[in-house]
Amino acid sequence: MQQTTPAACPESALVRAHTSLGDFDLTVCSDGTYLLDGGAMFGVVPKTLWSKRIQPDAENRILLGLNTVIVRTGKHTVAIETGIGNKLTPKMRGIFQNQELLPQSLAAAGIRPEEVDIVINTHLHFDHCGWNTTLHVDGSVTPTFPNARYFAHRGEVEHGHLQLERDAVSYNSPNYDPLIASGQMTLLDGDDFFEARDSRLPICPGVSVELFPGHTAQMMGVHLEPPRPVESRPSGSTPTPHGCYIGDLLPTAHHLDITWVMGYDLDPLRCIEERKRFYSHAIPEQWLVLFTHDHDTPMARVALNEKGKPVVAG
Ligand SMILES: [Zn+2]
Repeated sequence: MQQTTPAACPESALVRAHTSLGDFDLTVCSDGTYLLDGGAMFGVVPKTLWSKRIQPDAENRILLGLNTVIVRTGKHTVAIETGIGNKLTPKMRGIFQNQELLPQSLAAAGIRPEEVDIVINTHLHFDHCGWNTTLHVDGSVTPTFPNARYFAHRGEVEHGHLQLERDAVSYNSPNYDPLIASGQMTLLDGDDFFEARDSRLPICPGVSVELFPGHTAQMMGVHLEPPRPVESRPSGSTPTPHGCYIGDLLPTAHHLDITWVMGYDLDPLRCIEERKRFYSHAIPEQWLVLFTHDHDTPMARVALNEKGKPVVAG
C-alpha cells in the first residue's frame, strides 16, 4: 500500500493520506479537527485506561479528526462524509474549536467540488454532513457539491426531524433538508437493503452501503470493492482489495476493542455485536478500514494481537 503519511506530506494538516485500492484512488481530506469530551467518546471505559491511548487536555477533551474520503473510481468521484461545515453558531464553534477546512483540503488535493458526482453520508449527525451545503453571508444555503447526487438513509432524516431530547443537538436540518426539497438527495429505505445482495446496496460500480446499526439505528458503512476482471484476480493468499469506511461504529483506531463503544451510541450492545460481525470479515479478508474521526491514523488494516484483541496491523 502506498500511503503518504502526515509526516511526509507538506500539506499534512489538510490532506491526511493518499493511497490506491485496486484501481480506486483514495484521498483522505479533512475538515480539520475538533474537541470532544474524552469520557463521552469512551463510554463506560475508565479514564485510567483510555488516557493511556489518547491524552486529554486540562478540560478532559480529546482531539478528533473529520475525515472525508474522496474515492476516484475511474468513472465516478465519490465523497464519503462532509465534516462539520460552516453552519455552527459562534458559541458551538467555541466549544468544538473546529476550523472549517474541507474546501481548502479539497483544493490542496486537487479536487474540485464540481467534479464530485456522488456524496454519501453514513448518518446525519452534524459532524458527518456539515459541508453537504454551504452557508453564505446572506443567510442562503446552497449545495457544496453542485453536480453530486447525495445519499443518506431515510430513517436518519426522520429521526433528526423528531428532535428528541437525547440527540436533538446532533441534527442540523440545513445540512440535508434543502437537498431533499430540491430532489438532489436520494433517501435509502430499509426495504432497499433487505432486497440487496449481501445486504449491500450498490451506489455505483464498486461502491455500496450496508447498515451497521447501534451508533444510530440506521448508520451505514461504505464498502469499496474495485471491480476486477476475473483473469486478473489475485490468487492464493492475496486477498481481493476491499476498503470500508465504517463511520462511527469505529470512530478512531483507539476504539478497536469490541467493548470500547461510545457514550454517544444509542444502542451500545448492538454496536458490540456489529463490531464482531464487521471483524469477522474485515480481519481475515484484510480490509482497509477508514476511520471517520482519527486525525493521525485515518486508515489501517486490523489484526488480532497475541491476546486475541483487534489492533492496528503492524
Ligand atoms: Zn455520529
